Amino acid sequence: MVEVLVHLILPVIVLLAFRPKIDKVLVFSLAVLAVMPDLDIIIGHRTLFHNVFFAIGMSLLVAFVVGLVSAKKQQAFYLSVYFLFSHMFLDLGNPGVPFFYPLSSRLFTVNFSVLISPFREGFLGSGLSIDSAVITNPIIEAVKPQVMPVVTTFGVLLLVLVLLLFIIRFINCKGY
Ligand SMILES: [Zn+2]
Repeated sequence: MVEVLVHLILPVIVLLAFRPKIDKVLVFSLAVLAVMPDLDIIIGHRTLFHNVFFAIGMSLLVAFVVGLVSAKKQQAFYLSVYFLFSHMFLDLGNPGVPFFYPLSSRLFTVNFSVLISPFREGFLGSGLSIDSAVITNPIIEAVKPQVMPVVTTFGVLLLVLVLLLFIIRFINCKGY
């Protein structure tokens, strides 16, 4: 479970960093898809919008709608796929993502951490060790009622950082 600001900001800045010439109107209007899967929380079932079938179906729908008003149907499809899958990718931590719901009720989750011990155990006596696993959890972990963070300190700090970069860029453009 990752919060709203991180879901929104990270995929947009990664995209703009690697594809600076991309159609920004399309990017910013479709970026809402990066947070959309979490709307299933309102229905009380954090599985309905967190699966590949929803992601593909929604992307086809978006491409169809965009295709009605512009020639950017294909680009809209790929951007929708990117934003919806980025959401699931960022949610891969506990309790995981029900990728194949409703066909399968398993939540896929990845645990990865590098640990350091002050006792110089682990990797070559460096104190470093890696704890990683790909596991599946029963779907009940995703649908049980729980209090979840919508906005966290990390998300707010990320937002401030991005805004600062925008301001610096704006000032540079003005030639100060
Ligand atoms: Zn989510």
